This record gives sequence, C-alpha cells and structure tokens, in this order.
Amino acid sequence: MTVAADDLDTFMNGLKRRNPGEPEFHQAVQEVAGSIIPFIQDKPKYIKMRILERLAEPDRVVAFRVCWEDDEGNIRVNRGYRVQNCNAIGPYKGGIRFHPSVTLSVLKFLAFEQTFKNSLTGLPMGGGKGGADFNPKGKSDNEVMRFCQSFMTELHRHIGPDTDVPAGDIGVGAREIGYMFGQYKRLENQFTGVLTGKGMEFGGSLIRTEATGYGTIYMMQDMLTRVGDGFEGKTCLVSGSGNVAQYAAEKIIQLGGKVVTMSDSSGFIHVPGGIDEEKLAYIIDLKNVKRGRLEEATKQFECTYHAGERPWNVPCDLAFPCATQNEISGAEAKALIKNGCMGISEGANMPTVQEGIDAFIESKILFAPSKAANAGGVAVSGLEMSQNSARISWKEPELQQLLRDIMQGIHDNCVEYGAEQGGYVNYLKGANIAGFVKVADAMLAYGVV
Ligand code: NDP
Repeated sequence: MTVAADDLDTFMNGLKRRNPGEPEFHQAVQEVAGSIIPFIQDKPKYIKMRILERLAEPDRVVAFRVCWEDDEGNIRVNRGYRVQNCNAIGPYKGGIRFHPSVTLSVLKFLAFEQTFKNSLTGLPMGGGKGGADFNPKGKSDNEVMRFCQSFMTELHRHIGPDTDVPAGDIGVGAREIGYMFGQYKRLENQFTGVLTGKGMEFGGSLIRTEATGYGTIYMMQDMLTRVGDGFEGKTCLVSGSGNVAQYAAEKIIQLGGKVVTMSDSSGFIHVPGGIDEEKLAYIIDLKNVKRGRLEEATKQFECTYHAGERPWNVPCDLAFPCATQNEISGAEAKALIKNGCMGISEGANMPTVQEGIDAFIESKILFAPSKAANAGGVAVSGLEMSQNSARISWKEPELQQLLRDIMQGIHDNCVEYGAEQGGYVNYLKGANIAGFVKVADAMLAYGVV
C-alpha cells in the first residue's frame, strides 16, 4: 500500500501548529511518523482511532518552580518538569535530566521516544521523562542535595511505584538519585521502588549502571553477527564520557574492538593506539570522581585533544554516539560513510539529525536507532522495579543474561518489522513499528480514553 505523499506533511503541519517552538519534539515525532504512517495505511483500526495523533499528545505535562539556596546564601530559581507521555502498557517510566539545555521541547521528544523504547523491551512500562534546567556542574554536593530535595518536594505528588517511576539521565547519576529518593521517602513515609538507578543499599539493581552502554554494544554485536561479522579488530569511535559512553567503551574493549575516541561537551580525545582498560579507568575516575574535563587526559597518556570538535571525521569501522541529541550532523554522517564506517549504534537519544539518518539508511550501512540501541538501561530499570515489588534482588549473572536476552529480542523484533527486499534490514522502521504495535493495540483495547 502506498501513502499519499502529503500524509506525513499534513500530520506534521498539524503537530507543529499545536506545538509551536518545539523543534526537538517535531524532529522525534517526524522520525517515528515516517515509519508509522505507511505502516497503518492498510490498517484502518489505527487510523480511525487516531492512535498516532493520540501518542503525539502527552497524557500530561507538569511544569513547576524549583527554588533552592546556594552555598553563598543566594536564592536560585529553576524550572522543573515531568512529561507523562503514555501509560498504555505500564506505569510511566523514563529518566530525569539536569542540564541547562533542558526545555519542554527536549523532554517531550524524550518522553515520546521513551514510549516506543519501553514497549520494545517487552516489559510493562509506559513512557515519560522529566528534568530541570539546573546545571549540576561546578555545584557543591550540598547545593546538589538542596536542589534535588526542592525538585522532589513538588515531583513527589505526581509519581509513585504504580504511577510513574523516574530514573537518571544526563546530569542525574547515583548521587542525585540518592538525594531524590531520600526526599521522596521522607515526604511520603514510604519505602517503595519509586525511582530506579538506586544505590545497592536501598533497593538498586546490579548492572543498572552498565546496562545502557553494554546494551548499545550488544545491539551492534547482533547486527554484525547477522551479517557474519564481529567486533574483533574493529576501530570504534565513541562520543561522550559519561555513564553510557564509559560502559559502551568497556564492552567494546572486552569484545576485541579498539576505541580511539571519547568526548565531553568541550571537545574530544583521539587515541590512535586505542583506549585500553587502564586508560578507561583513568577517564572514569576523572569524570565520575574528580568531575574534571577530558582535556586533562593529555597529561596522563598519549593522545591528541580537539577542542570544540566532535569525533565523526576520524576514520573508523563503527561509531557509537553516546553524548547527547543532534550530535551527528548531516555532513558528519556523510563523512562517516565516506571514511568507511560500516555501522552505527546510538547510545544517546536522537544523536543523529534527520538528514544524517536518511544518509545512513540510503547507504544501507548497519544503523541501530537509539530507541532500540539504548533500551538496555530502561530494561534493567524495569527489572529493578520487579525486584523492588517482590522485595528480592537478583544476582549478577541472572541480570547479565536477562539484559543480553532482552537486547537480542529487540534486535530480532527490529528484523521482523524492518526486513526489506535483498536482505537489508531497516532497523529504524523495524524499531518504530515493533514499538508502536504493542502500545497501539493496548490503546485500542481501552476505547477512547
Ligand atoms: P552523562 O551525564 O553521564 O554523560 C553525558 C556525556 O555527554 C558527558 O560526557 C557530557 O559531557 C556529554 N554531553 C552532554 N551534553 C552535551 C552537549 N550538549 N554536547 C556535547 N557533549 C555533551 O549522561 P548519560 O551517559 O547518562 O547519557 C548520555 C546519553 O544517553 C543521553 O542522550 C541520554 O538521554 C542517553 N541515555 C542514557 C541512559 C542511561 O541509562 N544513562 C539510558 C538511555 C539513554 P560533559 O562531561 O562535558 O558534561
């Protein structure tokens, strides 16, 4: 069945009219709608019940003032949000981001994406996302604590173990989750699994920290295996040096690949000989404990530092964007292809602009979109929820196997819905459709709600 050429335009024009000034949200919806609109053309039940339109309208958006006092006694004011996009298949679930670039548009894009991603994991989780335009960089632990407590003082009304279960994201790691969980517990007088990514002492799950990065690499491993290839000896570009990037790099090294770049928001390091376990341990300590800049690595081991640049012009076999949205431009995507890159697996959310995605798909290189490739983190968060509900904790080997199986399942689901003539798999189409079908069928069952 073919689609009228203007169907996507008509849909997007309506969405843009209803959501002015939200470019990231428009971009995320357009990427999904481009797969879904052709798919539903011969399925009137989805069209008649306006499922796509309903999914692109969040169930609820909460915005609130967050006041806190800095160490000098000044009163600071930030804005907090929670976007609850869709709870058709389970409680809202999705991270909290603390970064100065946080806007409603960014969180609506992330909550929308999360709905499809969570569905793909096969676990019962709806989609949500939250955050604040607060910058934890350069703040003392006490300032971060006061901010987190103030943020949770409002957020606690809107979340709960069966309602909405937030997790970490950019700028929100174990420290911030601890402060927020402590405040929730104090306000509600309940010890429940209301946040994931918790410390092991208070209900956290083993391997949650590693899960997103590992999962991104497992996705690539499955794509390579399908075409009779593997990681051994492959030159890999990684961007970012936070949670996702660190464990993506670790898994690449374990599988025999060579990681030649990592980055932060100031620039990237190029290590032609490869980042080994020792160098990676230094980077992890630098970013997580010293909270320093990646440039400092030049004093520790041989590498070049490229201020204000991204790594995508370095020749490679495989690339793993693990920093933030829109970090691969159309030109950079074309440079990757031209320089021989054969596969991309997106650890970050929406790291590639639409023009870049189009280039990857047109060139038929392996391309795993974020909603499939980085779903390992939320999958283990889903397992943390189950452990909290049952008041148990699974052992590491069981969890490692569950993560591996979930990623394999996501890969296979993408192949089922994304296989095209000639053996090419459009993983973007596969992920979008596989994620959509489960949520859409649940929505149909509920009627018009
Ligand atoms: P972290 O805060 O741990 O690390 C983020 C990294 O990206 C840092 O190296 C940071 O540099 C860099 N970065 C942040 N913003 C920018 C920017 N505007 N330009 C360039 N570099 C930037 O976050 P995570 O590793 O948790 O998240 C990374 C990505 O993965 C995000 O897109 C997130 O949504 C996604 N993701 C994370 C999951 C998780 O489990 N953590 C799950 C699924 C997706 P600097 O040190 O200078 O700040």
